[in-house]
Amino acid sequence: MITIAEAQHIILSAIHPLGGEELPLLSALGHIAYEDVISPWDIPTVDLSAMDGYTFAALAAGPLSVCDVIHAGSSRGETVPAGCAVKIMTGAPIPPGCDTVVPVEDVHVAGDRITLRSEVRQGDHIRRRGEDVTAGAHVIPVGALLRPQEIGMLSSLGRTSVQVYRKTRCGVLSTGDELLQPGSIPQPGKIINSNSFSIAAQLLDAGAEPVMLGIARDDREETRRKIAEGLQADILITTGGVSVGDKDFVREALLDLGGEIRFWKVAMKPGKPVAFAIVQGKPVFALPGNPVAAMVAFEQFVRPALLKMMGHTRLFRPVVRGTLTESVKNKGGRPHLVRVAVQLADGRYLATPTGNQSSARLTSLTSGNGLVKLPPEAVCTFGEEVEVQLLDRYFELGAGSHEAD
Ligand code: AMP
Ligand code: MG
Repeated sequence: MITIAEAQHIILSAIHPLGGEELPLLSALGHIAYEDVISPWDIPTVDLSAMDGYTFAALAAGPLSVCDVIHAGSSRGETVPAGCAVKIMTGAPIPPGCDTVVPVEDVHVAGDRITLRSEVRQGDHIRRRGEDVTAGAHVIPVGALLRPQEIGMLSSLGRTSVQVYRKTRCGVLSTGDELLQPGSIPQPGKIINSNSFSIAAQLLDAGAEPVMLGIARDDREETRRKIAEGLQADILITTGGVSVGDKDFVREALLDLGGEIRFWKVAMKPGKPVAFAIVQGKPVFALPGNPVAAMVAFEQFVRPALLKMMGHTRLFRPVVRGTLTESVKNKGGRPHLVRVAVQLADGRYLATPTGNQSSARLTSLTSGNGLVKLPPEAVCTFGEEVEVQLLDRYFELGAGSHEAD
């Protein structure tokens, strides 16, 4: 059986970034720039007042008579004569003849004359043309992550859309005769399909686009047909039917379609029955059926691949050092990815295992937000420092640090 790292290496060597697409600015949030964004103009485009105050030529500063007012949004083309000041609001252009602004608070006003309460320096309180961005500057390079601040910058360059690495379209197929769709009432022998939704949500969370393919019954033909349908997307994820059960047909169906299976089974718990294949040129991830195993395998294998396809260079979740608040034991021969609830307390991460670690027990993930990799036959004791993979971007909002009942 190969290791998690070996499996990741096999996957990432087979995966390449997709092309680009133009997205409206707000849809581009969280995506990676596919173009070098160059500023068409200086920002600010002219010298502006940085304060609500008065502007004048500093050399002439004595008592000044106020001859005009300029609000943000308007401007004055006429030169301001020596000995005069213009009342000016924040963001309004400095008129010709002026080179200094003094804030309202630093001025004594008597009728239409002002005197300065303190000394001024020439150039005070002016936002210089181009001090933020100069025309022709490379403001956002290819490969940059578009965060809210980049979206704001793009809009100040006059842009309404931007080229980004395009979203990976990803087929999501669940397999199993026992599965009912949400909205149904569970019946004896039947359970509700949760994998399609947890996986689709993981895809959305990573910035990809799920294509919901529903459920394939445990039948080789149907499984093959649904997988073939899923190959229209950029990549395909299946869950279940990839172990050694009598009715596990996913591997056979992949082979029927001419697929090349690059690996099957990884030394990890949960998540051992997982396969990666290239079928008709498309990457296919056959994830385990158990809900926790499917999500954990997605985290280790699918997410880094998706991020690479979408132009990211940071492919893995952050790993921090945390202190275990309880002892944990791995009696088995495979590394165990223990679900933990991570909390930040007095600047230190604390990691608390989330109880029964069955791969079918989704509450081990709903009550957690991190994974601790426990080597085979290992014990980590209370108070020990371990590496914790932080699983979600809601961490700072406190998700997963509550107790499950
Ligand atoms: P399998 O690998 O197909 O034998 O599935 C392993 C376990 O995961 C079984 O208990 C299945 O009922 C369960 N399972 C499989 N697919 C899903 C799904 N889509 N949603 C929830 N549980 C599932
Ligand atoms: Mg099954």
